[in-house]
Amino acid sequence: MEYPKFTKDMRKTHTILIPSMLDIHMALFENALRGSGYKVEVLKNVGPSVVENGLKYVHNDTCYPALLVIGQFIDALNNRNDTHNIVLLITQTGGGCRASNYIHLLRKALIKAGYDYVPVVSLNASNLEKDSGLAINYSLIKKVAAAMTYGDFLMYLRNKARSYEINKGDTQNLTNKWVENLSKQIDNNKGLSLKAIKKNLFKIAKDYDDLKLDLTHKIPQVGVVGEIYIKYASLGNNGLEDFLVSQKAEAMVPGLYGFIYYCLYNQIYDYEIYGSGKIKKYVAKFIIKYLERREDLMIKAIRTTKFTPMKYFKETKELSSGVLSHGTKMGEGWLLTAEMMELVEIGYGNIVCAQPFGCLPNHICGKGVMKKIKEIHPDANIVAIDYDPSATRVNQENRIKLMLAIAKEKIDPNEPAKL
Ligand code: SF4
Repeated sequence: MEYPKFTKDMRKTHTILIPSMLDIHMALFENALRGSGYKVEVLKNVGPSVVENGLKYVHNDTCYPALLVIGQFIDALNNRNDTHNIVLLITQTGGGCRASNYIHLLRKALIKAGYDYVPVVSLNASNLEKDSGLAINYSLIKKVAAAMTYGDFLMYLRNKARSYEINKGDTQNLTNKWVENLSKQIDNNKGLSLKAIKKNLFKIAKDYDDLKLDLTHKIPQVGVVGEIYIKYASLGNNGLEDFLVSQKAEAMVPGLYGFIYYCLYNQIYDYEIYGSGKIKKYVAKFIIKYLERREDLMIKAIRTTKFTPMKYFKETKELSSGVLSHGTKMGEGWLLTAEMMELVEIGYGNIVCAQPFGCLPNHICGKGVMKKIKEIHPDANIVAIDYDPSATRVNQENRIKLMLAIAKEKIDPNEPAKL
C-alpha cells in the first residue's frame, strides 16, 4: 500500500511533530533539527484524551508506549485547525521487538482517524523506511550527539541536586537556564565541537555544584530503570520522578547514552555471538569511540564537583555478565540488568523497575533477574511496577511507598547525605 511520503520539498512547509519523552533532551533535539532546516514541534499534550485516543485507534493488546505515542499524535491532530502541513516523527529501534511495528500501527490508526494524508517519518538506525525526506547526515548527527550529551548531563545533575535544594525551584531554574542557553548554541551551530562541549560541561558542573543544598540527612536514593518510554516519559509513568521527589527521595534515571550504547554494542554482539553483520560491527565500534570521547568529558566534569559520577558504560555493560547474556537483546535486554547493577553499585540500592504491562522482554530482563541481583547485592530493594491504561496510579504509588518505607528503615537518622 502507498503511504504519503515526507519529501525534501516539505521541509520548508511542513511541521514535524515529535512525541514527548525526555523533557530536557527533547527541547535540545528540537533545536538540533531546527538548526538543520526543519520546522519542529515537540508535543506537550497530555491528559485523559491522549489515552482515550490511543484506546480508540489502537488495539488494547498493543504495547502501552505505542498506545500513548499514537494517542498523543491523534489528540494533537484533533486539536489543530490545519493538519495538511503536518508530518509525524516516530523513532524505531529496528530490533526484534514489537517496537519495529509501531510505524505500521500509527499509519493504520491515522487512516481510521481520517488523517490518511499525514506523512509519517521514521528515525532509526536500521535503515527502515529508506525513502524518507529526513536527511541523516553528519551535520545532524553531530548536533543530535551534542544535544544528547548535554541532555544526559543536565538530567543527571538535576536529579542529583533537586531533592536537596534549600531554595525551592533553584535546580529547575538553573536547568531551564542551561536548556535555553544550549538550545541557542545548537540552533546557531555552536557548542558542537569537543572543545566547546568540554567548556560548556565544566561551566554547567560548576553551576550545579554552587547550588545551595541541605545535605544534613540522608534520604532514600532511588534508581529508575525499565522500558525506555515508560522509564523516561512522565506521560507513561504517571510522573514517577516527581512523585519520588515529593516523597522526599532522590530519583535517578540513567541517561540516554546507555540505550544508544546498548543498540551499538548489540551490533558487535550480533557478530560475535551470532556471526552476522561484520560491517555493522565496525560502524558501531566507530560510533562508540565517538560517543566515548563525550562521555569521558561528562564524567571528568562531574568529578570536579561534590556529585558522584555515573560509571563509564564500558564498565556498566560488564555488570550484566553472570546474570544475563549479552545475546539477550529484545526490548531493553541486558541493558536493564546492567543498569540495575550499576545503580546499586553507585548508591541507588532502591530501584523502581518500570515497564508496560504485558511487555514480555522487559519482564524477563527486569523482573526475571531480580532474584539473582538480590543474591549478589542482598541490600537491593527493587520493586517492579507495571503501567497500562487500566493500572491505577494509586496502586502504583502505594507499592512505591512500600519500597520507600523499607528504604527509610535502613537509614541512620544521623547519617549525612552522600551525593
Ligand atoms: S519492549 Fe515491550 S513495550 Fe516495547 S515494543 Fe517490546 S514488547 Fe512492546
